[in-house]
This record gives sequence, structure tokens and C-alpha cells, in this order.
Amino acid sequence: MKFSRRETLQLGLAGAAGLGATTFMPFIARAEGKGDSYKTASGEIVITPISHASFIMSTPGLVIYNDPVGGGALYEGQPSAGLVLITHEHGDHFDPETLAAVVGADTKLVVNPAVLEKLPEDMKAKATAIGNGENTTVGAIQIEAIPAYNLTEDRKKYHPQGRDNGYVLTVDGMRVYIAGDTEDIPEMRALKDIDIAFVPMNLPYTMDETQAASAVAEFKPAVVYPYHYRDSDPKAFAEKVSAAAPDVKVVHGAWYG
Ligand SMILES: [Zn+2]
Repeated sequence: MKFSRRETLQLGLAGAAGLGATTFMPFIARAEGKGDSYKTASGEIVITPISHASFIMSTPGLVIYNDPVGGGALYEGQPSAGLVLITHEHGDHFDPETLAAVVGADTKLVVNPAVLEKLPEDMKAKATAIGNGENTTVGAIQIEAIPAYNLTEDRKKYHPQGRDNGYVLTVDGMRVYIAGDTEDIPEMRALKDIDIAFVPMNLPYTMDETQAASAVAEFKPAVVYPYHYRDSDPKAFAEKVSAAAPDVKVVHGAWYG
């Protein structure tokens, strides 16, 4: 049986159905030590927030670590990484010491070109660099690099256009957008058919809640995780999203303990 994108997600979220259309869905599965589960064509995606911009996404056939930082101890007891994605070189996204702990013999890395240059030689041999607009495949997962940059004049020094990546992953029929560090750029607003999105907010490095909610209301992912929001207010973001795009589900993760 083939389900539509939204039907598939609803099946995956069935455990939360009894809670009604709350903007913030509690993490029923996480209370048992598991991540959030979403049904795909042949299995499930399980999302486990680690901290800030770091999370683990288990997919049918491949475990993905996004921007793993914070030291190897944070990842003990987790399934080992088949793929490590790195969006850009800042310390809350790229940490060679953590990579040394989580990258195994068979782990592949997909990074932006600037991070490739900063990788130790042994990691470089496992890495593929893709720039904005380029794509690659790891196992059955297609990966497209989406631009990630600042628009506001006095923030452009943090993430200049053309250097850093967001990613759209096509995983077993689902499209997952990891925005990286960016403002509400036209390339984000133009995204189509995103099932799960990770969108940052914190100033001055990325954007505020209003910008983030406005962009999300335009590209309308089925589910959005606010992440990378230290010192910002994810509830304010959720309220703005639900006012402008009530069909988008905002999922609040335990990013900060
Ligand atoms: Zn950054």
C-alpha cells in the first residue's frame, strides 16, 4: 500500500493524535529513551535531538549524525554513525575532537567545501564536499546542498553567501530539510514538499522568531523542529507558525536538556 506524504506522517505521529492539535507535541517516545518516530515507505525515521544543532536521525539502512559536537560522551549508547553531515565550520557545528569519537571505519562524511579543507587527513579520505546547489548520494539517501547565509548587513560576517550548507535529504520517500545557520533566504522560502524541517533562530547569528516563522509559513513543511535557538523563544515561533500556517506541526525537542 502506498501512502501519500501527509498520510504517512500522520501514521508516524499517531501516538500523539489523542493530544489534539496542540502546537507543541510532547515527546511520548523520548520519555522511554527513544527519539521521535516517523513512518517511511519501508521503515521509520527516528529523530533524537542531542543538543543545539546536533541530532541523530536513524533511517532505514543508515544512521545519520548532523553537526555532531560536544564530545564523544554525548553519543555513547547511540547507534553508530553511517553518515556524518556537517553544515559549516563554526564550533557549534564542527568539532574535530567529537568527530574523532563518532566517525568509525565505515562512516562517510558529507560537508561543505570550507570544512573539507579543515578536516584532518584521515577524515578527509572519508568525506565528500558539496557546495550550494550540488548533490550526492550515500547509500539510498540523496543529499542536496541548499544555501545557508545571512541576509542582514551586519550579520553577513557570520555566514557569508556561498560558503555554508543546509541540506535536503530524500530518505525512503521523505524529504528532510536541515537549514544550517541561515536567515529566511529565498532558497528556503522556495522549498517544496518538505516533510520534516529543522529551522534555526538565534541572534545575531541566524534570524529571529518572526523571520523563521514567516519562512516556514511560506514553504510549509508538514513538521518543523525549531533548533539552534539558544536565547530565542521557540514558543513565540510556534505561535506565529500556527497563526500563519495552521497545518504545519511544530515539534519541540529537548535541545537544551
Ligand atoms: Zn554558524
